[in-house]
Amino acid sequence: MSEPSPLGLFGGTFDPVHVGHLRLAEEAAEALGLQRVRWIPAGQPRHRQNPCVTAAHRLRMVELAIAGNPRFELDPAEAESGEASYTVPTLQRLRAELGERRPFVLLLGADAYAGLPSWHRWQELFALAHLAVAHRPGFAVDVAALPGALQAEHAARCVPDNDIGALAAAPAGRILNFPMTPLAVSATQLRGLLAQGRSARYLLPQPVIDYIDLHHLYRSNNGS
Ligand code: ATP
Repeated sequence: MSEPSPLGLFGGTFDPVHVGHLRLAEEAAEALGLQRVRWIPAGQPRHRQNPCVTAAHRLRMVELAIAGNPRFELDPAEAESGEASYTVPTLQRLRAELGERRPFVLLLGADAYAGLPSWHRWQELFALAHLAVAHRPGFAVDVAALPGALQAEHAARCVPDNDIGALAAAPAGRILNFPMTPLAVSATQLRGLLAQGRSARYLLPQPVIDYIDLHHLYRSNNGS
């Protein structure tokens, strides 16, 4: 029986989804041999103002952004739950759905990786998935600047950037960095542009811009 191919998992607020997210997922799929990348927009905390627009809007924008890419698929469960989202329970759900053997590769930007110790039950992540961390070509994650507990995990689990075989060889537990085209774009910057009525063209997929325009998102403080 052939080994199941690694599945990429890409969570985020996606408020809104932008070209940095799309290139991260596309380049990860290509570089790491991921047959599929499952996008998992985060849910909406009930008692907090953030994110800026509802989970239903963010989910729909991701759906529009990834449409037509045969490698990409959408996981609406966190967004539809109406709750704050935590990655460990999501990975446990996916393990129950997809089995124990399939390699899971959780995709992260370097900034998110450095913040990992603030995540709920973060040390349980390594039993559930590999981590693949996007970095600028030529610039590894600054290991010395990571929080101490994460430094220790990093030292124990990190494999060389090009050792994608290590991801296929086990279902979880490795950390690998991968280069991506540097794109200094963020959702924060885009919300700022949109709030000022400025152009976000070519930084957001056109169907996402059309959706934002149609629903008057990010234009004012209506919070919808
Ligand atoms: P915000 O500005 O609201 O914090 P964001 O642009 O960082 O949002 P998120 O939805 O928080 O977007 O990010 C989801 C994931 O995508 C995170 O792992 C983050 O590190 C990564 N990411 C976001 N933008 C980029 C980018 N331009 N290049 C590489 N990774 C990115």
